Amino acid sequence: DVSSLVQMLFSLGEMVTATESVNDETFELLGEELNYVVQVVSPEDEDRELLESFDLEFGEDEGDEADLAIRPPVVTVMGHVDHGKTKLLDALRNANVVDKEAGGITQHIGAYQVTAEVDGNDRRITFIDTPGHEAFTAMRARGAQATDIAILVVAADDGVMPQTVEALNHAKAAGVPIVVAVNKIDKPEADPTKVRGQLTEYGLVPEEYGGDAMFVDVSAKSELNLDKLLEAVILTADASLDLRANPNQDAQGLVVEAHLDRGRGPVATVLVQRGTLRVGDSIVAGAGYGRVRAMLDEHGDTITEADPSRPAMVLGLTAVPGAGQTFIVVEDDRMARQIAEKRESRERAAMQAKRRVRRTLEDFMASMEKGASQELNLILKGDVSGSVEALEDALSQIDVGDEVNIRVIDRGVGAITETNVDLAAASDAIIIGFNVRPQGKATEMAEKEGVEIRYYSVIYQAIEEIEAALKGMLKPEY
Ligand code: GDP
Repeated sequence: DVSSLVQMLFSLGEMVTATESVNDETFELLGEELNYVVQVVSPEDEDRELLESFDLEFGEDEGDEADLAIRPPVVTVMGHVDHGKTKLLDALRNANVVDKEAGGITQHIGAYQVTAEVDGNDRRITFIDTPGHEAFTAMRARGAQATDIAILVVAADDGVMPQTVEALNHAKAAGVPIVVAVNKIDKPEADPTKVRGQLTEYGLVPEEYGGDAMFVDVSAKSELNLDKLLEAVILTADASLDLRANPNQDAQGLVVEAHLDRGRGPVATVLVQRGTLRVGDSIVAGAGYGRVRAMLDEHGDTITEADPSRPAMVLGLTAVPGAGQTFIVVEDDRMARQIAEKRESRERAAMQAKRRVRRTLEDFMASMEKGASQELNLILKGDVSGSVEALEDALSQIDVGDEVNIRVIDRGVGAITETNVDLAAASDAIIIGFNVRPQGKATEMAEKEGVEIRYYSVIYQAIEEIEAALKGMLKPEY
């Protein structure tokens, strides 16, 4: 029974209680002791096995060298807030539309392709149209790598800032080459030389200083040197990457963005990584499946096929997959459905397991009574900075004795976002919203992750309830 397991673990030097979760090594240790071989399988391993059971494999080009063809680089734009990531993505997107004939309005579908002329050749580049490294991180967290090259945007009037360094480290950790766009050089106070010096200190040395990183001075606002930036991307790709894929196989790739469209049902923008995706193909994307009913490109035009590195908006799925999940073309609808159903039931089980260990204010109270919890993590969001400060101030004055701690791990002004929920889930925190509402899929995600969000419009009420929870007196509210 459980208590003898706890005893056994104790004798192995592991102190756990019966309801505590233990890590993978502990499980394996316990198995050894009981003469079982315990193997902890990761979700990725599990999914690989699932695909294998259908004779499928994700992530490999089929065929041999001769089947591989050059594919465009896939680029993510990263950098500090307000340094011009969005503006640059817009400028690159719009500049390219000019070449297109009528119907020139580009739509935001999550990714787009542009053409650059390099050495007299037309070369295509794919941009992931979500600035910042959220998309990058989300995909990497799922073990999927979409990005070949990162453009690091640094405003020349502001220089290297904390998120510049963070982005730089993310790209380095992923082994992704960096092209630096020194932005806002139209501004009189721009100092592009200073940016070069600063980044050199972080090990990103400009070519002109003898390093191997290309730096391009640009202005997203005045659309200056955008062609040079595109050229630098191609040159960097040619110099350090072997970007090839087999277009002549069933398509595989990643979901970049997906949502439920009122008229069209689930809509997903996918990035083909290998093979060619065609209308009529049966696909599984995350836990969604279906036959590709239609595909649209970033201009809203219908396309019938998408080759490697091509983003395409896919219609015809049964469910909305998550960003960063994989898609794969399979033999027929039946197989697609079987895989999707297995994934869905597994996702549901994982979610339930997760939800059980998450914390609500009531759970916190209950575990306090058992003498377990010592720290309550909070994320505060308010309509104005004054209210957030007032809330934090009042919280710090709650007197609950030495054994409990309130820790505000993040605070901010504005709606409750998916990023807030992400952080709360990762750190077992509760989100306090003061005169704000959730935004986008935040509520849905909180539900999924078992994160509690509590809303208040009166400060003393918020304080009262949190204090009550800390003192173990919270009444459930309905
Ligand atoms: P992001 O937070 O990195 O996505 O930054 P944005 O693209 O939203 O840009 C932040 C601000 O800088 C906006 O007001 C832009 O209009 C401005 N901006 C962006 N690029 C340039 C530029 O090249 N020159 C000037 N003068 N302003 C720019």
